[in-house]
Amino acid sequence: MIKVFIVEDEIIAVESLTVDLQKIGYEVVGSANDSEKALIKINQTSPDLVLIDINIKGEKDGIVLAEELRNINSIPVVYLTAYADEKTLSRATKTFPFGYIVKPYKIQDLATTIAIALEKYKEVEKIKNQLIEQQAKLEFISKYDELTQLPNQLSLVENFNAILEVFYQQLSYQENIKNNEIPQLIPIFYLNFNRFKLIRDEFGQELSNLLVKALVKRLKANLSEDTIITRLQGDEFALIIPPISTKQVAIDLARMLLEKITPPFIYKQKEIYIDFKIGISFYPLQGQNIDELLYKAKEAIYGLENIGENQFQIYSPALHKYTAKQITLEAQLHHALDRNELELYYQPKVDIKNSKIIGAEALLRWNHPDEKFISPTIFIPIAEETGLIEPIGEWVLNKACEEFNFLHKNYKADLQVAVNLSARQFNQDLLEHKILKILAFHYFNPSLLEIELTESILVRNTSFASKKLNKLKSAGLKIAIDDFGTGYSSLGYLQSFNFDILKIDRCFIKEINTNTKNATITKSLIEMAHQLNLQVVAEGVENEPELAFLHRNNCDYYQGYLFSRPLPFSQFQELLSNNI
Ligand code: C2E
Ligand code: MG
Ligand code: MG
Repeated sequence: MIKVFIVEDEIIAVESLTVDLQKIGYEVVGSANDSEKALIKINQTSPDLVLIDINIKGEKDGIVLAEELRNINSIPVVYLTAYADEKTLSRATKTFPFGYIVKPYKIQDLATTIAIALEKYKEVEKIKNQLIEQQAKLEFISKYDELTQLPNQLSLVENFNAILEVFYQQLSYQENIKNNEIPQLIPIFYLNFNRFKLIRDEFGQELSNLLVKALVKRLKANLSEDTIITRLQGDEFALIIPPISTKQVAIDLARMLLEKITPPFIYKQKEIYIDFKIGISFYPLQGQNIDELLYKAKEAIYGLENIGENQFQIYSPALHKYTAKQITLEAQLHHALDRNELELYYQPKVDIKNSKIIGAEALLRWNHPDEKFISPTIFIPIAEETGLIEPIGEWVLNKACEEFNFLHKNYKADLQVAVNLSARQFNQDLLEHKILKILAFHYFNPSLLEIELTESILVRNTSFASKKLNKLKSAGLKIAIDDFGTGYSSLGYLQSFNFDILKIDRCFIKEINTNTKNATITKSLIEMAHQLNLQVVAEGVENEPELAFLHRNNCDYYQGYLFSRPLPFSQFQELLSNNI
C-alpha cells in the first residue's frame, strides 16, 4: 500500500486527514507537527509521499521543510494549507511541489491531487533514472579509444586530476625527506608521428591501425604501469608520467623511449619506418591544468621542426612560439581588417525533417593577398594571442547583422544566424553590452542571433562563465555549445549551463551508420539533449546514410558538405532563394 506522511500542527486535522486518506486507500505511516520531528520520522518511515501544511510549529515553516526534503531525498511533496496568498504560493512553487491543496478540501480533490502527484513523480523519476543510466553508459564509451582500448582525450582531465590528488598526498608525507629528492614535477609528454597521414594514404586504414596498435604495445612495454597513456587522436598521444624529482629523469625517459619505439615495424616482410617527436612540459612549471600543459608540450615540438625526426624537446619560454610563417601571418593579420580582406561565409543550418534552411553559421574567411586559403583554425588562434580577435569579432557581428538584415527583408524574416566566439572574446569585459550595442545599431532581433561557444571556454571558470551566459540569454540571445565531443564533453555541463542548442561534433557523426560507438553516443546525446530541452544540430554531415541515421534518431538540424559547404554571401542568398 502507498505510504503517506502528514506534517500538520493541529491534531484534529491530522486525525481527519488520516481517516480521509485511509478511505481513499492510503496508509498513513506517521505525522509530525514541526519540521525537526518531521525530518527524523520521514527518514525512519520512508513514505511514498508527504503532505505538508505550510503553517507548522517551530522556526521553519512547511516550505522550508519541503526544500530541505528535496535536498535530502526525493520524496514527492504535496502542500495542504489554508494559505493561498500570492507570496506564499510563489515561495511554494519554487520548491517544485507535486501538488497544492487548499483547505478546506473535498475528499475527491485530495484523491485526485495525490494520484496525479504520484504519477508525475513516477514519470520524473523515470526520466531521472534514464538520464543517469545514459550518462554512465556514455561516460564509459566516450572515454576509451576503441582501437587501442586506451583512455582517450575526454578522460584526460579526470585522469590528470586523479594523479594530482595522489601527488599532493605523497608530497605531504614526504615533507621531512631531503628536499631535492622529493618528486615534485609531473612530466607530460606529447608524442606524435608525423608521417601517419602519408602512411594511411599509402597503405590504407588497416595497416595504420595495426601500426598504432604495435606502437601502443611498445609504449606499454617500456613505460611503468602507472604512466597514463592517452590516445588523443590518430597519431597523437599524451603520456602522463608519474612524478619525478628532476627534469633529467624525464630527459632520460624520453631518450630511452625514442630508442625503443623507433626501430622499423615489419609488415609483410617490409620495413616501415616511423618518425616520432616528443614534446615535454612539467606540472606545475608550465601550467596548472592538463590543457595548458599539453598545449605547452605541443608547442615544444614546434621547436623541433627543423632539427629532424626522432627528437624530443622540453618546453622553454624561449622557444619560438610560432614558426616564421606564423609571425608573418600575425603581421599581415593586423592589416586584414583595414584592407578589407575579411569575409563571412555562411553554412546553411537545415531542418532535418523538411530540408528547409532555418539559418546559417557565419564562418570567417581571410582573403589573404598571397595565399589562396588560410584556415580560420590557423589565423583565429593568432588573432586570439594578439588580441586582434576583439575588433575582428566586432566586425564579424556587424557584418552578419548587416547581411542577415538584408535576408530578413527579402527572403525569410526569422532566419537565424550563428557566430562563433573564442575564449578571449567571451572573456571580454562587458561582452553582453558590446553585443547588444551592435544589435541595437542594426535593429537586429537578439533572438535571431546564436552564439557558439566551445566547452573549453566554459570550463576555466565555470561560475563566471555561467553568469555571463545567463546575461547573454536574458538579453534574448541563443547559446549553442559547439564541437561537443572534442573537449571535455562532460554531460554535467549540459545540465548546469543554460544552453539552447547542442552541436554534436563531426567526430561523432562521421560514419555514424557503420560505426556503432559513434551511433550509440550520438543517439544518447540526442535523447539527453531533448530531455533537457536543447535542440540538436549535427555538424559535418557528409553523406546520405549519415543523414538518414540522424533523421531516424530525431536529430533536429544539420550542417555539412552534403547540403552545402560554407558559401560566400551571394551564393548563400541564391541557395536560400531556391529553398523557401
Ligand atoms: P566550427 O565552429 O566548428 O565550424 C565548423 C567547421 O566545420 C567549419 O570549418 C566548416 O567549414 C567545417 N565543416 C562544415 N561542414 C563540414 C563537413 O561536412 N565536413 C567537414 N570535414 N567539415 C565541415 P572552418 O570554416 O574551417 O572553421 C573552423 C573553425 O574556426 C570553426 O569551427 C570556428 O571554431 C572557427 N571560426 C570560424 N569563424 C570564426 C569566427 O568568426 N570567430 C571565431 N571566434 N571563430 C571562428
Ligand atoms: Mg561553430
Ligand atoms: Mg563546430
